[in-house]
Amino acid sequence: MSIRIGILGYGNLGRGVECAIKHNPDMELVAVFTRRDPKDVTILTETAAVCRTEEAKDWKDKIDVLILCGGSATDLPVQTPEYASMFNVVDSFDTHARIPEHFANVDAAAKSAGKVGIISVGWDPGMFSLNRMYANAVLTEGCDYTFWGKGVSQGHSDAVRRIKGVKDAKQYTIPVESALESVRKGENPKLTTREKHTRECFVVLEEGADAARVEEEIKTMPNYFSDYDTTVHFISEEELKRDHSGIPHGGFVLRSGKTGWNNENSHLIEYSLKLDSNPEFTSCVIVAYARAAYRMAAEGQTGCRTVFDVAPAYLSAMSPEELRASML
Ligand code: NDP
Repeated sequence: MSIRIGILGYGNLGRGVECAIKHNPDMELVAVFTRRDPKDVTILTETAAVCRTEEAKDWKDKIDVLILCGGSATDLPVQTPEYASMFNVVDSFDTHARIPEHFANVDAAAKSAGKVGIISVGWDPGMFSLNRMYANAVLTEGCDYTFWGKGVSQGHSDAVRRIKGVKDAKQYTIPVESALESVRKGENPKLTTREKHTRECFVVLEEGADAARVEEEIKTMPNYFSDYDTTVHFISEEELKRDHSGIPHGGFVLRSGKTGWNNENSHLIEYSLKLDSNPEFTSCVIVAYARAAYRMAAEGQTGCRTVFDVAPAYLSAMSPEELRASML
């Protein structure tokens, strides 16, 4: 019997999860829950239902894992504990500073309901966190580096769009190649924010807006741009649609470390991602962890977990026997 999946929230991630389920034959999408009128939400899976979020409680016995695809800012802090009291859940909560608090809330709800909740699944947090942890555990003497991009930052794009006179905008975060090279050479550079990443903005102006003022406002925006070298390009609406409609992302996690009695030998661990679609990749990771949640719950485990707490074998569609046989 396949693992029955529900999706709560149908935005970029919701759609990505639906696509990922298609490529995992041991899973089946049974329902999508939305806060909008279901009539306004068209999904791709003909056999799945589209329902209002209030109806989710009626699906408790028909769904093995509910994947929560709401936004991290305001949806998930409320939704994940709420639904962990009814379902095994997985979310992609990415507000790094609030993960301990979110964990405690989901843990309490999941434990009292006898369910499993896996939080902060994706690539960062998620696969990047895991690779940073593996590298640190293995090379205890060393330096960590994380570079993001080239990719679209939704938060920075939103910040530019909020400037008066801006009709639409996309912002790319780009790693500085020379900094990456220095890390790869084992030079262990001390890098400032400005030395690690640059930012590039593609902006469509409202009719009559003052380009020089908009550029100045972007470049001097505290927290978002003032600590970076930022390039601003003004383009037409058609160009934005044609050349910048995707949501690519990616990045690099590196640890350069030393071993030997006198630290005479150097080692470099590098994990990199180049993603055409941030939400589709994130969804593939989430779906693998949904399999883990299902298996852990079947074993009688309860409570909250992060990617650190889930053994790799739980993620794979292969059995432990098949995995051992594939350890070439
Ligand atoms: P979206 O803004 O696309 O969707 C968020 C929610 O908004 C949906 O669940 C949906 O809820 C609602 N929504 C979506 N489209 C519409 C619409 N047309 N009209 C009205 N409401 C809509 O966000 P994403 O799916 O791109 O991302 C969700 C979260 O995933 C992000 O906040 C981010 O924190 C996290 N994330 C984590 C990553 C990681 O590596 N850990 C990587 C990428 C993202 P409803 O159906 O109920 O209306």
